[in-house]
Amino acid sequence: MSQLIFERSVTGRRGIRLPDYDCPAVNLDDTQLRSTTPRLASVSEVDVTRHYMALSRQAFGVDNGFYPLGSCTMKHNPKINDHMASLAGFTGIHPTQNLETVEGALELMDGLQRDLCEVTGMDAFTLQPSAGAHGEFTGLLLIRAYHQSRNDTKRTKVIVPDSAHGTNPASANMAGYSVVSIPSNPQGGVDVEALKAVLSDEIAALMLTNPNTLGLFDPNIAQIADLVHQVGGLLYYDGANLNAIMGQVRPGDMGFDVVHLNLHKTFSTPHGGGGPGSGPVGVKGLLMPFLPEGTLIDKTYPKLPKSIGRMRSYFGNFLVNVRAYTYIQSLGGEGLAEASFMAVLNANYLMERLKAHYPVAYPGTCMHEFVLSLQDLKDSTGVRAMDLCKAMLDNGIHPPTMYFPLIVHEALMIEPTETESKETLDDFADMMIGFKEKAISDPDFFKNAPYTTPVKRVDDVLAARKPILKASL
Ligand SMILES: *Cc1c(COP(=O)(O)O)cnc(C)c1O
Repeated sequence: MSQLIFERSVTGRRGIRLPDYDCPAVNLDDTQLRSTTPRLASVSEVDVTRHYMALSRQAFGVDNGFYPLGSCTMKHNPKINDHMASLAGFTGIHPTQNLETVEGALELMDGLQRDLCEVTGMDAFTLQPSAGAHGEFTGLLLIRAYHQSRNDTKRTKVIVPDSAHGTNPASANMAGYSVVSIPSNPQGGVDVEALKAVLSDEIAALMLTNPNTLGLFDPNIAQIADLVHQVGGLLYYDGANLNAIMGQVRPGDMGFDVVHLNLHKTFSTPHGGGGPGSGPVGVKGLLMPFLPEGTLIDKTYPKLPKSIGRMRSYFGNFLVNVRAYTYIQSLGGEGLAEASFMAVLNANYLMERLKAHYPVAYPGTCMHEFVLSLQDLKDSTGVRAMDLCKAMLDNGIHPPTMYFPLIVHEALMIEPTETESKETLDDFADMMIGFKEKAISDPDFFKNAPYTTPVKRVDDVLAARKPILKASL
């Protein structure tokens, strides 16, 4: 581990030297003066530079190496997006400025909303929500407002398949609904008979990801949509996996009434570590009257009498929207379609290379990701998915998503993304195949991995239950 900045501190050392005052001194009274000096490190500029460089080397991001974290779409984010988002005309404006003085920003947000409508087949978008989960919550409030506006108050339940991302049931719960879980069929899609069995006039909505977190496109989607609509329910589309289908098929055409997108995944803003995101929500016409306050409509922010209210301050995470718009404009419609094509091609290539060595949970053509089960490996060698993942860190690779979806034992969910080369995919496949041989010949090797990272094997339970988030000085 590198030193703390305080451990580098030497009394009196400075990074900058200010010129002598050349203006009259002002006497501040005691109420304006602090009673103790702030505890700051006394360090030189080179100390600070090396400190932050050392910290950055202890972290791992997409710019460091392959990051196949299933569902999270950790793809390369073209640097032009950041360049555009750092233009002074965008960074220098203030959210309380008069709208006439920020027409460029309004133009950009309007253009982005139109593009997102085009990509998803929706009628209107709001850029208010700040993340995928925030979009889910917003979408469910829209659904609730719709049913309430029709005095249809019996609808207290939301259906969520057992392969869903954990945020889906959590959002439904937060929006005041009880969650009805339905099982997946043997092919990994929605079990249509199980769906029929829970459909009634108490159902507010079905939440679905298509392709789902198993990386599978549900071919029964048209029938599923009809069934839900027939009982008066609405369809919510979790669009976090849109990089599998953008430019190919549209949720709006599949029968969905409301969608959220993860601009920080599909539309290319660096994410992870909880950094700024954007989870815009798109709706069909029937939900438009309920859109949040602060939704741009025809380049103004009209009062919306039936609105669900404001979902956040001001206009959403504007600079994430600048990145997304840059990404869409620089790729164009054909470029977006090519990106999703590559995402699916890469995932299938990697799955084909690995399937003889590790069982694929749901064999067949996948979309942008696939799930392996390491249960056999664990049974025969004692090496768990977790152990294998720790060893990847020594190879400069971020592990795939582990132990998710919950319906697959010892799951590894692998999303190579569209931006990786064949060489990178081959290196990963070779590593995984080598790992299997090593797990058989030397299982203990994996129990103690990683060996070369700044922090070695941690006690995961202790780290989660009693995290030490602050140095004791
Ligand atoms: C990432 C993700 C979410 C949640 O998005 P956040 O921006 O992290 O809140 C929801 N559903 C799926 C399928 C996801 O991959």
